[in-house]
Amino acid sequence: MLYTIRKFRVFMVVAAILIISTYLYIDKPYSNYDINHIKEIDNKKIEEIKDYYFKNINISNDNNKYIKVKKIFIKKNQTLGLILGKLNISTPRLILKKFKSNCLYKLNVKDEIIIKLINKKLVSIKRKNKNIECLYESNNNKITKITKTKNNFKEQLVFFNNISNSFYNSAIKSGLSPNEIMLFADIFGWDIDFSLDIRKGDSFGVVLERIYSNGKKYDKSTIKYAVFKNKNKIIEAFRYNNKYYNKKGTPLEKQFLKAPIDFYRISSHFNRKRLHPIFKSVRPHLGTDYAAPKGTPVYSTGDGIIIHKGRKGGYGKAVIIKHGNIYTTLYGHLSKYHKRIRAGKRIKQKQIIGYVGSTGYATGPHVHYEFRVRGVHKNSLKIKFKKRKKLSKKNINKLKKIHQTNINKYTWLRKNYIK
Ligand SMILES: [Zn+2]
Repeated sequence: MLYTIRKFRVFMVVAAILIISTYLYIDKPYSNYDINHIKEIDNKKIEEIKDYYFKNINISNDNNKYIKVKKIFIKKNQTLGLILGKLNISTPRLILKKFKSNCLYKLNVKDEIIIKLINKKLVSIKRKNKNIECLYESNNNKITKITKTKNNFKEQLVFFNNISNSFYNSAIKSGLSPNEIMLFADIFGWDIDFSLDIRKGDSFGVVLERIYSNGKKYDKSTIKYAVFKNKNKIIEAFRYNNKYYNKKGTPLEKQFLKAPIDFYRISSHFNRKRLHPIFKSVRPHLGTDYAAPKGTPVYSTGDGIIIHKGRKGGYGKAVIIKHGNIYTTLYGHLSKYHKRIRAGKRIKQKQIIGYVGSTGYATGPHVHYEFRVRGVHKNSLKIKFKKRKKLSKKNINKLKKIHQTNINKYTWLRKNYIK
């Protein structure tokens, strides 16, 4: 007997050790963490409103009463009269009158209508959407309107993680939404190429604000502060006037040169409906042409990474450069490339990438220059790049003041996760 108890005890101890060690070594995501308290983030998606018609949601017998509730979502060109007519119910006169508090007179698409009938007689009609609730009751022939108060609220959260292989996966595990990951990548995209530069041991931290405006689902996030450790280099970003700066007030976003060459004449503007000079048909011209003598040096208009060097159809000899996370520039019709240009290589602003020529479909020597934002062609001459200089002493102090209340969180993040 004693032997069995001892054996049982040993078994219990071993089991306890196993459970504890599994718990400790399990890959716990560093997610949903707030410095002061751990908060559950509701990922439940708000049920999509389905577009159905005349759905019975409840039929019951109560004290010999036959109760029927019908739920309808309003479609285009539907009126209450039309809906009630289909149910063989005559529309109460009050509803048909136009007066200020008659919130059943005009309906919006996707409004929810709940019709209650007892023994086939109309009892009530309710109209619901995210802003109002409106009720008609037949017993007193009255319409009551309740305007919902919008309960917008903000929540500040901290996310962080070590990066094992992919930045995206680690960011998702930390609890960031895909949208928030994009915001983060846009901030650091000027200094880090998220597909090439990530190394084991890199880590990141974000302090962000989620704004909830309808029910529980947050629909907007703002990154207040972000820190990224990449190849032992630490970059911090503080939000100030909708832009991001480091501690010294230097903007993280880099600027572009107006043109890829020094002395030029614009021979063709950006035009979505241009008649092509060679093909004589309407073909959009999604760039700007800078005419210059053959051999004139062509510069990169910004810091970036070369993602293409080579012949590219009508563009002839072309170079494409990726700048930060969202911009790319293209330089076409080059006569030759600069000897140090290779795909995958980092390049500085105003570094020579090649020389003016007329390779591909070109009528004379010129550079065809394209500017794309998230893959979409933009007229580079119309984009206003505000000169973003280093912040003045006064503005640096303002920045510091804005972030003062969060300083302990930033310090905590850096101390614990950005080592
Ligand atoms: Zn062109």
